[in-house]
Amino acid sequence: MKNILFAAAEAVPFIKTGGLADVTGSLPFAFSPDEYDVRVILPCYTSIPAPLREAMRDVTHFDVQFNGRSRYLGIRELTHRGLHFYFIDNEDYFGGPAPYTDYMYDIEKFCFFSFAVLAALPHIDFRPDLIHCHDWHTGLIPPYLATQFRYDSFFDGIRTVFTIHNLKFQGICGRDELRAISGLPADLFAQGPLCSGSCGNMMQGALYYADLVTTVSRTYAQEICTPEYGEGLDRFFAQRTGRFFGIVNGIDNRVFDPASDPALKRHYDVSHVKAGKAAAKAALQKELGLEPDPEALLLAIVSRLTDQKGMDLVLPLLEKITGGPCQLVVLGTGEKRYEESFRRMADARPEKMAVKTLYDEALSHRIYAAADAFLMPSLFEPCGLSQLIALRYGTLPIVRATGGLKDTVRSLDKEGQNATGFVFENYDVGGLNWALDLAIKTFFADRKTWEKMRRNAMREDFSWNRSAEEYSRLYRQLLP
Ligand code: ADP
Repeated sequence: MKNILFAAAEAVPFIKTGGLADVTGSLPFAFSPDEYDVRVILPCYTSIPAPLREAMRDVTHFDVQFNGRSRYLGIRELTHRGLHFYFIDNEDYFGGPAPYTDYMYDIEKFCFFSFAVLAALPHIDFRPDLIHCHDWHTGLIPPYLATQFRYDSFFDGIRTVFTIHNLKFQGICGRDELRAISGLPADLFAQGPLCSGSCGNMMQGALYYADLVTTVSRTYAQEICTPEYGEGLDRFFAQRTGRFFGIVNGIDNRVFDPASDPALKRHYDVSHVKAGKAAAKAALQKELGLEPDPEALLLAIVSRLTDQKGMDLVLPLLEKITGGPCQLVVLGTGEKRYEESFRRMADARPEKMAVKTLYDEALSHRIYAAADAFLMPSLFEPCGLSQLIALRYGTLPIVRATGGLKDTVRSLDKEGQNATGFVFENYDVGGLNWALDLAIKTFFADRKTWEKMRRNAMREDFSWNRSAEEYSRLYRQLLP
């Protein structure tokens, strides 16, 4: 039996701002309990829902020296659905209404979190053989392990895997600031592992020191070896041949299941998809004040509203979408310019388009169930979970062939009867327009194919089992 500790800034059901939380809150359950004891360590945000915070038990607390002064480090724990979670408590860092606050303060709080995870280990009844770190927030765990903590024999032989969920966010600040905050040895900054020029970079530290690095789809793993997608770190990936892998994400099939989803009034599976989705569509049209038209092609977006998600391609097509036989529902928050543009169009044509600029898990499930097609024309997409959820609910994704979207959606023009969606290549409005036209044509003129695609989509298996097996294979490489 090997011990694996997941370290991350988010995990459902404790705290979620995006797909990272879905992964860290569901992948740990997919490993064989005979082979691995997988546990998770998170910051103890005060924004974690009160019932979950109140259920936590105190393990211990002590002070550590960090960034020039003595800091409180509390450790709390909770067993949730049979899985053991630990929490690093420090209200100065993890207080407030949201997990992320001011950029520089976030850098400092996650330097502290990385340090605190290692400082906590000798005080819990669990010595990991391997720490699986997720995204830049945990980027300093491998460098701390390789430097300050290596003098303590407790840490001998602990291996690290680092998974990139989004390379766009690296934890970059001034080199001297990062050195001062982290307290890591000066030579890491003089020679390069933690800096490029005058910039300090937390993720770069993990890329340098982690035993293995992964990212969340095969195509994204190839893409980030190129300057176009590499966000300045492409040379690190290109050099890591044999130590850098792409493993596609899964989804929690119990949480995302139209046959049992508590957010839905009427449940459905692949044999009852037509009636199930028709009921969900009628209910959503009523809820959001859309025209109660069972024949409309209902398109949906559930997303952060940012340029990454391809919103610049959607805006020029709003007129066309809402002027024709389609309806559009948008659930998302993000950049004001997108929120406002969507709202303006929804105000002009409320019978055709509805916008909710908030974060609402239950509404998102009702939308996945009700929509006919899901728009996700991303500029880049490490993996993407939304299209996997859409597939599971029989909602056909319209996506760009990038990252995980390319790996998980089979396009009608290439795959014919095996298709699960509509995929375009080039990041331009013409590309999305082409895919949208193909979807419209199929929906209105070839319903048989549409229904076949819908069944294909629902029969896809994006549960975690396959990906967990791939991660297990990597763990075995490091823990013979
Ligand atoms: P990201 O890049 O944001 O992590 P993913 O597609 O990997 O994108 O995951 C996004 C997750 O967040 C999905 O589960 C999606 O349904 C959910 N989500 C995004 N925006 C909202 C919202 N406004 N309300 C509810 N869920 C949302």
